Amino acid sequence: MKSILVTGGSGLVGSALNEIHHSYKPDYYFVFVNSTVDLRNYQQTIKYFSELKPDYIIHLAACVGGLFKNMSEPVKMLEDNLLINTNVIKAANETGVNKLIACLSTCVFPNETEYPINEKMINNGPPHLSNEGYSYAKRIMEIQCKCYNKQFGREYICVIPTNVYGPHDNFHLEDSHVIPGLIHRCFLAKQNGKPFIVRGSGTPRRQFIYSLDLARVIMEILQNYNSTDSIIISPEVEYSIKEVSEAINTHFGNEIIYDQSFSDGQHRKTADSSKLLAFLPGFSFTPLDIGITETIEWFKRKYPNVRL
Ligand code: NAP
Ligand code: GDP
Repeated sequence: MKSILVTGGSGLVGSALNEIHHSYKPDYYFVFVNSTVDLRNYQQTIKYFSELKPDYIIHLAACVGGLFKNMSEPVKMLEDNLLINTNVIKAANETGVNKLIACLSTCVFPNETEYPINEKMINNGPPHLSNEGYSYAKRIMEIQCKCYNKQFGREYICVIPTNVYGPHDNFHLEDSHVIPGLIHRCFLAKQNGKPFIVRGSGTPRRQFIYSLDLARVIMEILQNYNSTDSIIISPEVEYSIKEVSEAINTHFGNEIIYDQSFSDGQHRKTADSSKLLAFLPGFSFTPLDIGITETIEWFKRKYPNVRL
């Protein structure tokens, strides 16, 4: 049996892996760790890794947030992520971990670009100004993985998921990504008999992946992907923020108002999923309306005991 350490095990993606991990027994033994081991601190990181001695690491821990957190806390998004990623990758190598999966994001993509954006285009220009800190920390992590592979013969692979959503997400009204933020805001609008305020114009377009789909793809990559090249993880289909807002609002029935005093962020980040589709041709992604319905049902069941 091989052991898999999942950093960020209490987060959105970590919780999805926790939900599906029973299907992978008895081949794998999973350990999920959260910020009780502060991965910004190398002493804590190397001590924990040395005691645990995992065979594989799925590295999800990060300082994560949507457009508005990226805009308000660029230093934290840069520095915390640089520290976490450096410590995790360095300690993994020191403790003999040969295979590690690290999570980038489509936020790393250049702002001015042709579409769709593929894995080779990441460094073809600066990212959107709204998420410079987070984006450069993630771009550096890809370089770190490549350097460890080159110098130490490791298999450290970067996956590039698009916008993730699902149960156990962060539903904070200011800091979250768009789907959990809108679910929370739409829920409160209904409770208070007020309009549902969507930030920005509603015209930007995004691809979305359900957290449980992402967890399954990550396990496929860990077991069957015979390359260390980075790989985008996204369904092909793209939605406008207006379409997403309306899909959420079908569960609540509010009046919708678009508040254009807020930023739209990058207009498009359309990611090319052809490498993923070639690797997993039969993979069936959860349709957005079903994923949104399941997430809203989970949110209503757990509220107010959710990450707010
Ligand atoms: P999340 O829900 O915000 O969870 C973050 C996880 O990281 C939590 O388990 C948190 O632990 C842990 N963490 C934060 N700071 C830490 C520290 N200093 N030391 C140790 N652990 C720490 O994040 P997520 O949405 O699951 O994201 C997982 C990965 O996917 C990240 O690398 C993220 O960049 C990437 N990603 C996310 C999205 C998205 O839309 N969510 C899109 C693309 C890529 P606590 O619970 O104890 O705080
Ligand atoms: P990212 O820009 O891809 O990281 O994705 P976000 O999840 O932050 O989504 C950003 C898009 O959704 C932008 O066009 C925002 O203007 C729009 N948006 C509308 N309402 C919200 C909200 O409550 N939170 C966030 N994060 N974005 C919102």
